[in-house]
Amino acid sequence: MTKEYQGGVRFAYLDGPAVDGIEITVSDGNSGIEFLTIKLGYAEFARALGGGECDATFSTWGIDRIGWHSQSKTERVYFPSGKKLLRAGDIEVREILALFEVEGWSVRSGDIGNMHRRGMEGSRLFYTCVFFRLVPPCEDCGAAMEYDPGEDEDRQAPGSAPQWHCACGYSQPVEAGDL
Ligand SMILES: [Zn+2]
Repeated sequence: MTKEYQGGVRFAYLDGPAVDGIEITVSDGNSGIEFLTIKLGYAEFARALGGGECDATFSTWGIDRIGWHSQSKTERVYFPSGKKLLRAGDIEVREILALFEVEGWSVRSGDIGNMHRRGMEGSRLFYTCVFFRLVPPCEDCGAAMEYDPGEDEDRQAPGSAPQWHCACGYSQPVEAGDL
């Protein structure tokens, strides 16, 4: 059975000396992933509008995450005081962010170092950061599933492995590469 998804299609005019055409971007509504970009010349586009096939160049990204749900959370990330200029690429920044970037979470680019998201608590410097991750849809009802890290940190006891849980009762093991 073919699955249907809700999403968006965006048309943009390519701008540049070497290009003459349009770019079509298709995005998945759930995950927000822009999974398909098609580039084609105006002549081809015009021909295709009349019905039929035309040549195009396309690229894909994140196809295996189509239909997944985007989740976000906001956290204060504290840094040693006295550091005025912090950039996302700094080694000490990466080390501190690594404590937050677990279980699939990754920080929104641009939050670290953004003065509008910067604050002080006593002598401690922090940035208020948004983190995103994708979680799979429930096989039964399609809702976003919750990540359960499992009860046993050693993963020895049966049933202690990480699971995806849905409010409807469905669950499935977390596969390698899910997060
Ligand atoms: Zn469900």
